[in-house]
Amino acid sequence: MCESHPNQNKTKQSFHHMKEFSKDSIWQVRNSTLGVYVHFPYCLKKCDYCDFYSEGIGSGPANDESTLFSAYQSEVSERISHFPKLRERTVDTVFFGGGTPSKASTKLWKQFLEFLRSEFSFADDTEISIEVNPEDLSPDLLDEYAKIGINRVNVGVQTLHPEGLSFLGRHYDKGKYTSLVTTLTHSPIQRVGIDLMYGIPGLKSSDFYRDLDQFLSAGLPHLSLYSLTLEKGTKYSRDVSDSIKREPEEITQAEILVTLPELMEKFGYRWYEVSNYAKPGYESKHNLKYWTYEPYLGIGPGAHGMIEGHRYGNPRNANLYQKKQTEAKYEPATPSSELSLTLFRLFSPFRYLEFIETHLEKNSQSKYIQTIQSWEKRGLCDLSDGVFQWRKEALLLLDDLILEISD
Ligand code: SF4
Repeated sequence: MCESHPNQNKTKQSFHHMKEFSKDSIWQVRNSTLGVYVHFPYCLKKCDYCDFYSEGIGSGPANDESTLFSAYQSEVSERISHFPKLRERTVDTVFFGGGTPSKASTKLWKQFLEFLRSEFSFADDTEISIEVNPEDLSPDLLDEYAKIGINRVNVGVQTLHPEGLSFLGRHYDKGKYTSLVTTLTHSPIQRVGIDLMYGIPGLKSSDFYRDLDQFLSAGLPHLSLYSLTLEKGTKYSRDVSDSIKREPEEITQAEILVTLPELMEKFGYRWYEVSNYAKPGYESKHNLKYWTYEPYLGIGPGAHGMIEGHRYGNPRNANLYQKKQTEAKYEPATPSSELSLTLFRLFSPFRYLEFIETHLEKNSQSKYIQTIQSWEKRGLCDLSDGVFQWRKEALLLLDDLILEISD
């Protein structure tokens, strides 16, 4: 099965410099639908490099699992009461993230989905994703998920090398890692993907490519290929300061980053975001919402949302979240500074004029357009009929270029 993204515009465009990029998937503004993100904050073990809100609680279930799920429902009802117009939107993506949402019971996800369906109308092709950690992955679990309507699974593999997992402070279960590729290739859910990380000290580039090769040979439709980063406040960053661990291998990371687009294209993947590759039609519709500035409800401790032109963030504390000690605070979204941070991470083409005209005030519009035209003159992007696409030359400069266009 190959679903096509509702944002896809099949009209052929003339792209003179885009031989290496897909021409039939052009992202455009879509504002009437809604994504729902739910954060489940518990993990078997807190990984050393992780700066998400997550707590390591060992292999058993969380003590507060059912009260947490009740709190999710209360939060949805509250957000709707603050913004009743939310109900007019059709939900077309749901994403269970974390943390490790595969640690929570499938029954609770099922009930929560039923609740969401009672509150909102769902699109026929709604993408319902869950993040799964290797220790939870099994054919039975995938069957359970398929039965409750989950239709996309992403597994946080990071590396298949035990020494790499140990460097990252990740749990390692030999049996699960050995059977992982087979389990995913026999999944009853077609839309499967994995996260792989590169630049882990102690591993060579060839170790990363050997892992990648396994997933490419298996033909998994979605691959997120990230570099390890050092995030402030993590155990990894403290270990680097104390000279216990080495920093990420930045030179190796840059080499891999620029090699991947061509390699992945040979295997039939579209490079649609700086770190994300998908077989055509298998892009993450939910993550595309973040990159194309579409509204989403963020539910759960540590979750963020953007609804009806407002942003909010929940406390990074499961107890506090359940006690509802925080006021509902909303800040107006500021597209003039936010749009650039998301949209220009896309490496597939998008209708830049439409995005700019929809989201920005007149004075910000001209600044954006001038900067974009200067990029075209420098040979960093292609523009055609209101459509923008980065050239590969922009890749290593991306952070600086995004700063150039931000307010
Ligand atoms: S399993 Fe994922 S969310 Fe949990 S601590 Fe590790 S990286 Fe963070």
